[in-house]
This record gives sequence, C-alpha cells and structure tokens, in this order.
Amino acid sequence: MFSMLTRMTTGCHVGMRLASSHIGGKLLGKVAIITASTDGIGFAAARRLAQDGAKVMISSRKQKNVHAAVRKLKNEHLNVAGVTCHVGHAEDRSTLFKETLEQFGGIDILVSNAAVNPVFGPILDTPSDQPDKIFEINVKSSFLLCKEVVPHMEARGSGSVILISSIAAYAPMHLLGAYSVSKTALIGLRKALAPSLADLNIRINVIAPGIIKTKFSEALWKNETTRELAESTVLMKRIGTPEECDGIVSFLASDDASYITGETILITGGMQARL
Ligand code: NAP
Repeated sequence: MFSMLTRMTTGCHVGMRLASSHIGGKLLGKVAIITASTDGIGFAAARRLAQDGAKVMISSRKQKNVHAAVRKLKNEHLNVAGVTCHVGHAEDRSTLFKETLEQFGGIDILVSNAAVNPVFGPILDTPSDQPDKIFEINVKSSFLLCKEVVPHMEARGSGSVILISSIAAYAPMHLLGAYSVSKTALIGLRKALAPSLADLNIRINVIAPGIIKTKFSEALWKNETTRELAESTVLMKRIGTPEECDGIVSFLASDDASYITGETILITGGMQARL
C-alpha cells in the first residue's frame, strides 16, 4: 500500500503530503461539507481534508466548476463528491445536506467558506443595496448553515464547524468596509453559537486569513504597486497561499483540536490584528 502511494505521488509536493497524511489519516471516517470549495481556500481545504482521510462534499454555484474540482481531486484518488450550492438559496443548502447524507451517510464537519465582496471603495460610497447582499451571503448563510447542520451532527454525536472570516474582521480594510464588518460579524456569530453547540458536543471555530493569493483578492496583488503595498503590511513580506490555510482547517476539524471551541486562528504572515 505504502509503495503504491509513493509511486502514485512521485515528484509532486501535494502528492507527497497525500502519501504521508494517508498514513496518519486523522480524519478517517469523517464526512466534511465545504462551501465555495471549487477554487481558492475552499478548494485547498477540500483537498487537504480528503488527503487526511475525510470524505468531502465539494460545492459552489456553477456546475462546471464543481465538475472540474471533483474531477481534479478524484484524479488524485481522493474520496470526494460534488453538488451545486449557492449558499444564499435555501433549497440549494437543503440539497447539499441531502446529497452528502445520501453519498456519505452522515456529516461531521462543516466549513462555511463562501463570501462575496461586490464593492471596492470607501465605505461611505457603498451603494445602498449592497450591504444586504454582503450580509446575506457572508453572515446569514453561515448562520443558517450552522443551524441546519446541527441535527445531522447531533445524529453523529459530535461535530466541528469552521467559519472562514478574515484579518479584516479585526482591522477593517479601508476599501473593503462593508465586507470587513461582515467578517467581524462572523467572529460574533462564533461566540454566540459556541455555548449552544458545546452542549451538543459540536465545536465551532473561525480562521481569519490575511492576504491569500486567490481570485477573490486579485485586486490586492495583481498589479505590482498594490502587491508591494499589500506585502508591506505583512511581517513576512509576502502574500500567503491557499495551501498555507488548509492545515489549520484540517487541524480544527480533527480530534487534535478536541478541546478547542469558540476560538479564532489568524493566518496572516504576521499582519497587525490584535494583542
Ligand atoms: P476564491 O478563490 O475567489 O474562490 C471563491 C469560491 O467561492 C469559488 O469556488 C466560487 O465558485 C465560490 N462561490 C462564490 N460565491 C458563492 C456562493 N454564493 N455560494 C457558493 N459558492 C460561491 O475565494 P477565496 O479567496 O478562496 O475566498 C474564500 C473565503 O476566504 C471567503 O470567505 C473570503 O472572504 C475568505 N478570505 C479570503 C482572503 C484572501 O485574501 N483570498 C482573505 C481573508 C478571507 P462559483 O463561482 O462556482 O460559485
């Protein structure tokens, strides 16, 4: 088995991790749902959770993205399935749970990762209709997903929920004002939910990434001037990668974090956030 895995993964960094993580398999027997997992941080987390032994349900709005992500991870011999889900649509969330139960038999881990940021500019210039959209997707959908997943985790006897917030939750970004406030709200949501979930043996934690190189953050790194400006705010003087977030997601999802709930872990390369 080991030689097969080693052969499968020769010359590939991600694959080398696949071989070693399968030996540990700290998420073996677990089932994970990750929203917005066909690209960026969500996709990296899906790959890592599957590498660590979980069965993972991939999802995002567009069928073609779901197909592509599932195909890519299946080609890496990972146990994943996919379904389209716009987190703002109640029927899509319901299908996401239903498909996961049908394909994998239960739900142990929820990573609520979807977010939008339709406006880029000073907060007072935010068009009046935009806050609703931002809060609908970034906050309300996370809240509803947490609420809706509870019976499924109760049925398993335990669970782990991870919300994806941002450094902007602690240090609002000048040109991303409304988005920043929505990410602060997720920290409050975590605090509000943690006691009730603890009573049900469900942990809830947050990760708050800094500037991570994905399509979502393109405006901060695509052009050399903005990239240099962004990098100057990071102690490590570089932008992070989605793969630098996935290990923390896997850790929080696993029993290695069995005594951790109601916390936030920042993954920022040392950006200024809090004492
Ligand atoms: P990304 O690479 O641009 O990926 C976005 C993903 O979200 C895609 O899979 C997209 O697929 C999906 N998506 C978009 N809207 C959706 C919706 N309404 N319902 C379901 N899926 C949706 O983004 P990312 O940078 O990884 O961001 C992921 C999370 O990290 C977000 O919560 C973001 O706020 C947070 N974050 C990112 C950074 C950063 O610097 N990148 C920093 C801090 C926090 P479809 O188009 O198929 O839907």
